[in-house]
Amino acid sequence: MTSLNDCRDRDAADPLAPLKNLFDLPQGMIYLDGNSLGALPRAVPARVAQVVAEQWGRDLIGSWNSAGWFDLPRRVGDRIAPLIGAGPGEVVATDTTSVNLYKVLSAALTLVEQDEAGQGQSKQGIAGSTCTPRRTVVSERSNFPTDLYIAEALCRERGWNLRLIEPHEVQTCLEPDVGVLMLTHVNYRSGAMHDMPAVTAAAHAAGVLVIWDLCHSAGAVPVDLTAADADFSVGCGYKYLNGGPGAPAFAWVHPRHVARCWQPLAGWWSHAQPFAFKPGYEPAMDITRYQCGTQPIISLSALDCALDVFTEADKLGGMAALRSKSLALTDLFIELVEAQCPGQFELITPHEHAKRGSQVSLSPKGTLPSDSAYATVQALIARGIVGDFRAGDAQQPDILRFGFTPLYLSYENVGMAVQGLQQVLVNKEYALPQFTRKQAVT
Ligand SMILES: *Cc1c(COP(=O)(O)O)cnc(C)c1O
Repeated sequence: MTSLNDCRDRDAADPLAPLKNLFDLPQGMIYLDGNSLGALPRAVPARVAQVVAEQWGRDLIGSWNSAGWFDLPRRVGDRIAPLIGAGPGEVVATDTTSVNLYKVLSAALTLVEQDEAGQGQSKQGIAGSTCTPRRTVVSERSNFPTDLYIAEALCRERGWNLRLIEPHEVQTCLEPDVGVLMLTHVNYRSGAMHDMPAVTAAAHAAGVLVIWDLCHSAGAVPVDLTAADADFSVGCGYKYLNGGPGAPAFAWVHPRHVARCWQPLAGWWSHAQPFAFKPGYEPAMDITRYQCGTQPIISLSALDCALDVFTEADKLGGMAALRSKSLALTDLFIELVEAQCPGQFELITPHEHAKRGSQVSLSPKGTLPSDSAYATVQALIARGIVGDFRAGDAQQPDILRFGFTPLYLSYENVGMAVQGLQQVLVNKEYALPQFTRKQAVT
């Protein structure tokens, strides 16, 4: 079994170890929740202070030009692009994931409808050439709820259907009535990762457009939207990109689609000439069409600064190096949990590397009561080991969720976290009243 000393040896040999000095983490805390809110990069407070005091306080309105505020969504998008396999000028950092999903899903529905209308015209007069109209969006039942809510509302508005499937049905769900497949690459609960190129190719072969939500992928696992030939993508700025609470999200649209239709939130920032103040709408021809209105410059600046961490990581091997460390950390965590808490947890996250994101989810089993996941997480937090809890339902168990950010976590952190978990079980801390659900809700 890997000992704490072995962990320290692995840290000493880890080429990415210096990256953790770029973060300001509280002393004594082991932070395994970077998949929910990324940690604070050390350089961000000074950047935010400068933007506030100088760009806003001193230069005021002049900063729209002199500090490049207007172009910031596009420039930050260009810095996210290499992390997700997008080209320059193809990504904007803007709005929230939920809002961006609304924009790209709406555009995808429009493209499907436009294509059908075009085909209908070319087939006029051919007897019996009626095709099933594609009016169904397929997504996963276990997708993050906001994705499903947005899809439900949009389908309702546009007269489409939303069909929810299980992960293993992704390849078999592509029926003739399906127009759009909207998936999250790495599942927020299970940490299971889809095979993006294979799923996208299968969807295209069935005439279906694909939207990938990269909330739990961007900055955590290598992604290549271009190589996968995806159609649309959105993702989050405050998880593995460490942009801070409510950081702008991002949107990507394949260049073959970007100018083919309007997106529904046609605000002035998406106009071809926003400062012409014309009464009529003319969409920009590039990805800025997917902006809407004035953007949160202070938050965008924080995200911009946070992305400097990835510039440093590039010098040490970039996403490929981060991915191998992430897998090594999750492998180690799984190994140690099996060795130190034998029979107490079901591993929810796939064992297979190709199917695993950058997190490990566990559900209680054996002698550990099935309803103890919440209190176990609370007891760990009291020990300075911060993961999180996600409630189950009739279909899925309660889970303990641990995110492993290779930028700032060490092998020793993993060893100590599992030691803490073992202590929580041995001492039955999960049964203490201060950690059980009722008392802990604030
Ligand atoms: C975190 C997350 C979101 C968050 O959406 P917001 O609009 O930022 O609240 C959306 N989708 C998925 C899959 C996520 O993991």
